[in-house]
Amino acid sequence: MKRFFLPRTWILLTLLLGISNLSAQEPVHGRSDRTIQFPDIPGYRTLKCDLHMHTVLSDGSVWPNIRVEEALRDGLDAISITDHIEYQPHLEDIPHPDRNRGYELARWAAKESDLLVINGVEITRDMPPGHFNAIFIEDANRLIQDDVMKVFREARKQDAFVFWNHPHWRAQIPSGVAALQEIHHELISEGLINGIEIYNEYTYSDEALQIGLDHNLTLLGTSDIHVLIDWQFDVPGGGHRPVTLAFATEKSTAGIKEALQNRRTAVWFDNTLVGNAEYLVPLIQQSLIVEREGDPRVHTLLIDNLSDATYLLKNLSGYTFHDQASVFMVKAHEKTRIWVKTVESTDSFQLRFAVLNAFTAPGKHPEIEIVVE
Ligand code: ZN
Repeated sequence: MKRFFLPRTWILLTLLLGISNLSAQEPVHGRSDRTIQFPDIPGYRTLKCDLHMHTVLSDGSVWPNIRVEEALRDGLDAISITDHIEYQPHLEDIPHPDRNRGYELARWAAKESDLLVINGVEITRDMPPGHFNAIFIEDANRLIQDDVMKVFREARKQDAFVFWNHPHWRAQIPSGVAALQEIHHELISEGLINGIEIYNEYTYSDEALQIGLDHNLTLLGTSDIHVLIDWQFDVPGGGHRPVTLAFATEKSTAGIKEALQNRRTAVWFDNTLVGNAEYLVPLIQQSLIVEREGDPRVHTLLIDNLSDATYLLKNLSGYTFHDQASVFMVKAHEKTRIWVKTVESTDSFQLRFAVLNAFTAPGKHPEIEIVVE
C-alpha cells in the first residue's frame, strides 16, 4: 500500500544535514500519534466512523484514496464516501458515469488495511427536504431520480441507512435553527429517515439533537470534508475531525449497520461527547481507571484517562477535595490526582460527577460514579 511516510534514506539524509523539523512525528498533546482513541464498552466495540465525505467525483478536492489515507492516519474503523448525486461540478473534467466508482476506488485503496469502506451517496436537494446521506447502498446509480420521494423509496429498497445532513445549515436555514417541515414528518413516519447529523464539519445543533431524541433517530457527527482533514481540523496542531462512535457487536460493515439501526452511537467533536446516556455513561466510565493510595481520611485517587477526551468533571458528592475545586479537568491520556476528604476514616466511599463536556440532551450532562472500595 502506498503511504506518505518519508523513505528511510530521506530521513537519514535529513538527520545528516542536521535538520530536526520532523514535526509530523512529534507527539501531539502528550500523545505519540494522532489516532482517535476511545475504549470499548461492556458488550460492544467502540468503532470510529466518518460517514460523510467528498472527493473530486462531486465537489471535493481529492481522489478517493486520499480519504482512505486520512482515515488510516486517524485510526478510523469505517468511512463512507458520499459524493453528491445531483451536484457534479467537475463533470466536464472528470466524467462520472458510474456513481459507485468513489466507493470502489476507496475500497481498492483500503484493501490491505482493516478500514471498512461503506458505499454511500449524498442526496442533494433544496430545503425542504435538504441534504441526506444514504449509506450501505447496493447501487448508487439507481438513486439518480427526479422525484425526491422516489430516491428515498429506492434507498429503502436497497436497505440503506439514511440520515439528514446538517439540518441547521445556514445556506438552507438562515437562522441556523433546525426544524422539521411537513416532508420531514412524512419521511420519518414512513421510516425513510433513520438518523440525523447533530454535528457537521464545525457546526453543532442543539435543535437537531432534540429532533433526533424526539423521533428516535440515530445521532451522527461527520467531517463532511471537501479539502484535507489536516487543514480543516488543524490535526497537526492537536485538533481532530468529528466522528460518530458506533457501539457494535463486531467490527464489520454489518456490525456498524446494526449499531446505527439500533441508535447505539455517540458523537465526538471538539472535545465534546453527545449521545444517549445508555452508551455515553459506560464510555466515560471505561475511559477512567481509578487507583487509590494512602491515608483513610484524605484519600489519594489517581484517575488515569485512557481516552482522547479531556473530561470536565463537576463534583456532585458530599465530599470536598483537598487539591481541586468542585469543577476540574481530567486531561486526555494523563493521570489526574485528587485528594478526597472523607473526614471520617473509611475504606469505601462513592463519588458522583456530572461530565460538563458531555451531553445526553440539550443542556443535560451525563453523570458518572466512582466507587472506591
Ligand atoms: Zn456533504
